[in-house]
Amino acid sequence: MTDTLQKTDWRAIAAELGPVEVIDEPVLIKKRSRDFFWYSPILNAQLKTCFGDLVARPAKREDLAHCLAVAYRHDLPVVLRGGGTGNYGQAVPLCGGLIVETTAMNRILEIGEGYVRVEAGALMADINAALIPEGWEMAMFPSTQDIATIGGFVSGGSAGIGSIANGALREKGNIISLKALSVEAEPQERIFDAEEALQVHHAWGLNGAITEVTLRTVPTRDWIGCMATFDSYRACYAAGYALATSETIGRKLCSAVDARIVDYFPRLDGHVPKGRHLLVALVPREDMEAYRSLIAAQGGTVDLALSDADRQERGIPHVFEFAYNHTTLQVLKADRTATYQQYGVGDPSDADAVARLGETVGNDVWQHHEFARVDGRIVAFDLPIIWFTDEARLRQIDGAYEAAGFTVADAHTFHVEGGGLKNADYRHLAWKKRMDPKGLLNPGKSRAWETVRHLSADDIEAMAKD
Ligand code: FAD
Repeated sequence: MTDTLQKTDWRAIAAELGPVEVIDEPVLIKKRSRDFFWYSPILNAQLKTCFGDLVARPAKREDLAHCLAVAYRHDLPVVLRGGGTGNYGQAVPLCGGLIVETTAMNRILEIGEGYVRVEAGALMADINAALIPEGWEMAMFPSTQDIATIGGFVSGGSAGIGSIANGALREKGNIISLKALSVEAEPQERIFDAEEALQVHHAWGLNGAITEVTLRTVPTRDWIGCMATFDSYRACYAAGYALATSETIGRKLCSAVDARIVDYFPRLDGHVPKGRHLLVALVPREDMEAYRSLIAAQGGTVDLALSDADRQERGIPHVFEFAYNHTTLQVLKADRTATYQQYGVGDPSDADAVARLGETVGNDVWQHHEFARVDGRIVAFDLPIIWFTDEARLRQIDGAYEAAGFTVADAHTFHVEGGGLKNADYRHLAWKKRMDPKGLLNPGKSRAWETVRHLSADDIEAMAKD
């Protein structure tokens, strides 16, 4: 592939891509070769010098098909890109080549009872803005909704605001169907039903270029952004678990944040007291009384409870900007030596075990838990701030979590198999063989692909069944 690229005449490719808009200014290409991999000092060292050669911005499916056909004809690596907010270098071109940015393919095509059909480059904030007046909202979305696309979320994300009520993205019914183009001489658009869509979901754009997604929506509610504080992290986590498992109180976000992290949230100054552990939640207006009683019973105080209109008037960001991976971002804005990791909590009901780990693992680890629903069960995962010294210490921390019965989904690898979702599952690689027989899409991101690329799709699929 390197040989091919060295010989590539990118001016000629740009001309051949016409009438599709291309970006060939080196500074802009470099910008579009990055995502949020710099959260990880390990990935930063590995990826900071990886750049694409040219950017194409298709505005419709036919344009996207044209880009893929040109790439196929010249054996060019292709990386699909939405908003570029992924954390693991998912959208970084490891081998150079063509970056195809989808943000101009952003139409909302259909809103119906319990579903929305959209083009892949639509921003999730725009999808929610279109749904809410119709009485619906997305079942879940990441905290980056303002700049992230639905195609990028389906290809690179996993869960978000709403997952505590509606499960992870991969759960039955959340992705209703999707359409994706193959990379062939004449790219074919294939429809993936709910079951098959899971082989494209979280495959980091390796298995086809998504053109359209149909997703479950849920009735919208008058959500109140709530911030409650606690003396101890144990009490804060326990209150989070109580809220997450409540059978009477609705919620679409429930996040516990260590007080030391909260000190890095200057936009909350004067709104929540200093030095206290923070429980961030979104609760429907009609359940606020029950929510307040729950927080009081758990020993906390409700410091902020604002409707979206009140929040805007007071100039406070969305509560979810203090949750999920935004928590890490708030700290990184002040100090680039911070990083994070992703750990599953063994028994989410065991607040003592969580607190014990927090106390023993070391002062360089500050806990932050998200609660979500997976297969009908409430789970918790820790996205702690870690003050990075070196990889050996990071792996020691991983070991301490594992020894305490927690699982690690490594946030410091750019391989799709590393983070946990696609481990030892060859079905998505069988789809890759069908959709991308030359292996041009996002090359270098799948270790397992390199071992099976010479096999037929059926043979790869058979490995999944072994
Ligand atoms: P990109 O980063 O552009 O792409 C992601 C992957 O999808 C890449 O591999 C890319 O090649 C592929 N891709 C993009 N478009 C297509 C397409 N049309 N067809 C095929 N492949 C495609 N993630 C969560 O799951 N939940 C969160 O709450 C969350 N919070 C975050 C908070 C912060 C501050 C940050 C920095 C990240 C967070 N993320 C979260 C990760 C990321 O924001 C989301 O996964 C987001 O949805 C990615 O969308 P994007 O458009 O930016 O995708």
